[in-house]
Amino acid sequence: MKVLVINCGSSSLKYQLINMENQEVLGKGLVERIGIEGSVLKHEAKGVEGKVVIEQEMKDHKVALGLVLDALVDEKHGAVKELSEISAVGHRVVHGGEKFNGSVIITDEVMAAMEECVELAPLHNPANIMGINAIKELMPEVPNVGVFDTAFHQTMPKEAYLYALPYELYEEHGVRRYGFHGTSHRYVSERVSAMLGKDLKDLKVITCHLGNGASLAAIDGGKCVDTSMGLTPLEGLVMGTRCGDIDPAIIPFVMDKEGLDTKGINNVLNKKSGVLGISGVSSDFRDIENAAGDGNERADLALKIFDRRVKKYIASYAAVMGGVDAIVFTAGLGENSASNRKEICEGLEFMGVKVDAEKNNMRGKEAVVSADDSKVKVLVIPTNEELMIAKDTQELLK
Ligand code: ADP
Repeated sequence: MKVLVINCGSSSLKYQLINMENQEVLGKGLVERIGIEGSVLKHEAKGVEGKVVIEQEMKDHKVALGLVLDALVDEKHGAVKELSEISAVGHRVVHGGEKFNGSVIITDEVMAAMEECVELAPLHNPANIMGINAIKELMPEVPNVGVFDTAFHQTMPKEAYLYALPYELYEEHGVRRYGFHGTSHRYVSERVSAMLGKDLKDLKVITCHLGNGASLAAIDGGKCVDTSMGLTPLEGLVMGTRCGDIDPAIIPFVMDKEGLDTKGINNVLNKKSGVLGISGVSSDFRDIENAAGDGNERADLALKIFDRRVKKYIASYAAVMGGVDAIVFTAGLGENSASNRKEICEGLEFMGVKVDAEKNNMRGKEAVVSADDSKVKVLVIPTNEELMIAKDTQELLK
């Protein structure tokens, strides 16, 4: 069975065509600047040298996906002979609200429920919905599956997801913690179980998804019991450009002082804060690590603040679960930065975390990096949200 996985952003889209027999990626690519001047599709296929770059006006997601499908069946750089070889399409959907606690086959009712979640993720869900509608038009015979970033976190108990706000705000407007990156947290937690040869039911795991966006999840017996992102992906860790946890009183204070409206303050908190805001150097951790290495104090400070926040969350999640068996690092920074993993774990020896410097000195592959006598296992696991989406799609269509 071949499954096409689609992840639509507001002006971009990523895709992978996966052969589920051997989990091989047959073709993949990225479209950028949809609806903006300079639209471009970069496509790769198994057995085809290099990237194919197609620069052509793409006024919307339907045009973009049309070109993606053309690329996938192209005689020279395609991945399949005919589109009919593609059995199903799995779509990443950012926000499923309280309506979705797992992946679903997309029906008219599901589309309606997804529309209702738009107000919770006004920047993301509309693009996801556009992608689904485009595929429905372009490949009307093919079943579509929705895989939600929020679904994995729906097992959190109420004490984890409710804010200390008037209860009516939850009842009337759905103000609560939802959490994101669920597909990634679920994927790596399943890999932990495989790598350690232990049933997920018997494991307490803390997964650290540290990329441009970053979040942690506490997973007890395979179920998420807490996570650091909230109503939106702004809460929790310090991120590339997002502030994470701050005193909420800062918001009206800064709005007053800087004469900002809600759009203005949202822009500050989402786009100008995080390690970019502290360092003034970049939102990219590689740039910041380099600048810190060259003696830039604010870059060094940004890394220290980032690491300290992760450390605090790890310890608090261990407390919530009454212990931890494994800590996992994943996503761009978590998979690649040995120094970052080292700094985060340093000082956690009191709770049985001991990283082996030599084992930790690696990047981008699955590995156990804790010392042999470390009570808590520390693992690096490259995330694979696309494969998880494809697996869910296959499972639902069985
Ligand atoms: P997202 O999918 O949220 O855009 P990624 O998971 O791709 O993000 O992570 C991107 C981040 O990972 C960037 O800040 C990048 O600098 C960081 N990163 C990637 N490789 C390395 C590396 N070798 N060392 C340090 N940071 C890295």
